[in-house]
Amino acid sequence: MTYLLEIRDLQVRYGGIAALRGLDLTLEAGETLMVTGPNGAGKSTLMKAIAGLVKPGAGRIDFDGHLVTGRAPETIAALGFSMVPEGRQAFGSMTVLENLRIGTGMRRDRLAVAADLEYVMELFPMLRDRAHVQAGLLSGGQQQMLVIARGLMAGPRLLAIDEPSLGLAPNVTDQVYEALMRLRRDRQLSLLIVEQSSTRAVMTGARMLMLREGRSVLEGDPRTLTADAMRQAYFGLE
Ligand code: ATP
Repeated sequence: MTYLLEIRDLQVRYGGIAALRGLDLTLEAGETLMVTGPNGAGKSTLMKAIAGLVKPGAGRIDFDGHLVTGRAPETIAALGFSMVPEGRQAFGSMTVLENLRIGTGMRRDRLAVAADLEYVMELFPMLRDRAHVQAGLLSGGQQQMLVIARGLMAGPRLLAIDEPSLGLAPNVTDQVYEALMRLRRDRQLSLLIVEQSSTRAVMTGARMLMLREGRSVLEGDPRTLTADAMRQAYFGLE
């Protein structure tokens, strides 16, 4: 079995703090994986390690058949990994359209870029309506949609999104997830989504990997995992 993403025994430290303590993870092409777990579990560190933004102390990361552990972020992005960081980091003084164009990075395939621009505007019609508005003037939910769309403009094989629901009203989060699920259906795009709570994993029915204290503590189809098992893993109860 070859995986799109395969991580073995990943360890990351920040000085004296062990953020990841031997993490294993696999993701098949076309699959959606929800990574959940409490504050400080290591979820963002996992994403940053895949992206090449933090250097692992041990372990290996294979992406699309390439060993990428410790390689430069631009190299990993060029292989097709696109990350939407936590906190909706749109370029506030640039327009929506400018933000989307920046997302295309080094892509040279102009026709495919134009088709992707059309696609993200269909996925999030608000982007077309607000194309010439400064991103900083958008609501939180609209900015979240914009940064996801910007991540898509890179034409990724794997799109990783850190806490898309953070600070959003539940109905706005619903809209974001409806678009993500449509993306999964339309394009069979591989998704790695980080959320603290398991609620969205249960709703999407995607495979879930729960982290706590830098380790995987629970994995499986969230619809078949009992609420008790999830609670125990989340809080580290015996
Ligand atoms: P959250 O839900 O709060 O984003 P998380 O699961 O994403 O949490 P990480 O942000 O990966 O967790 O943090 C894992 C651990 O590493 C925590 O103990 C955190 O305090 C620590 N940590 C994260 N970034 C740094 C840093 N730049 N310097 C020092 N320690 C860090």
